[in-house]
Amino acid sequence: MSRDEMNVVEELKKKRKAVILAHSYQPPEIQDIADFVGDSLELSRKAAETPAEVIIFCGVRFMAETAHILAPEKTVILPEPDAGCPLADCIDVESLRGMQALHPDALTVLYVNSPAAAKAESYTCCTSANAVKVVESVPSREVIFAPDRNLGLFVSGRTTKKIHIWEGSCRCHDGVNPDELATAREKWPGARLLVHPETPPEAWNLADAVLGTGGMIRYVESSDADMFLIGTEEGMVYRLRTLFPDRRFLSVGSIRCEDMKKTTPEKVLRSLRTLEPAVTLDPVIREKAFRAVSRMTEVSS
Ligand code: SF4
Repeated sequence: MSRDEMNVVEELKKKRKAVILAHSYQPPEIQDIADFVGDSLELSRKAAETPAEVIIFCGVRFMAETAHILAPEKTVILPEPDAGCPLADCIDVESLRGMQALHPDALTVLYVNSPAAAKAESYTCCTSANAVKVVESVPSREVIFAPDRNLGLFVSGRTTKKIHIWEGSCRCHDGVNPDELATAREKWPGARLLVHPETPPEAWNLADAVLGTGGMIRYVESSDADMFLIGTEEGMVYRLRTLFPDRRFLSVGSIRCEDMKKTTPEKVLRSLRTLEPAVTLDPVIREKAFRAVSRMTEVSS
């Protein structure tokens, strides 16, 4: 983005009382113009706390919906309305109710990567950063965990609760090739390998740590290593290089989310001008989803 366009963005942000939030998987040019870059949980908190009246949410639909759930009095804009999430789309209300009928003693913990209507049917929500803590907090011995199978497996290995796991996955993370990770490890033996819990267990077994994106940042901060192999969506490498310019980061496993790359600076500029397209939800669904998301934020705070 040119200096002139950057100035226009700044002027419009002031005029609209707007803030730009971006997920760590967004393209570099979006991370560069954002007021805040973070993971799902951090972005939800920012959306609720910001004094801004307009939130330009650079991410995918379920994230913008979560911002609207937590901050209904603000206008939440998703600059690219087609930025969806195949993982979120793999769960629907009817099938979730069917699973709940099969396990009547279980409460449902829904990964935030899910549609608002499914959140409304759940007891609470979680992110990859707090999934174990949230599951432990639920007042039942049995838990339905949806929709990410790999994160469900990750949690079930770290709790004594009985977990019923939904068969869904993030195509980008689940498709990571463990052989590619093993080759990278051999090539850079001194580097630390960090992978996301949405990757399959074969990837975790090769890694030094299995972490959400916020956890990866904290790991690097406290590590004395100077090189890291990053097994999550490739946008995260730009974020880490920005935060830690004296360390080396390499994206491994070819994990690229096309939906995350649909947002462009031009679309952000257009949204600041038009305040469209705004995210809206049925008020009843929003209210019920708010209860589930609030239980998560209470546990995490
Ligand atoms: S990386 Fe996977 S889970 Fe995240 S938005 Fe893309 S498809 Fe959805």
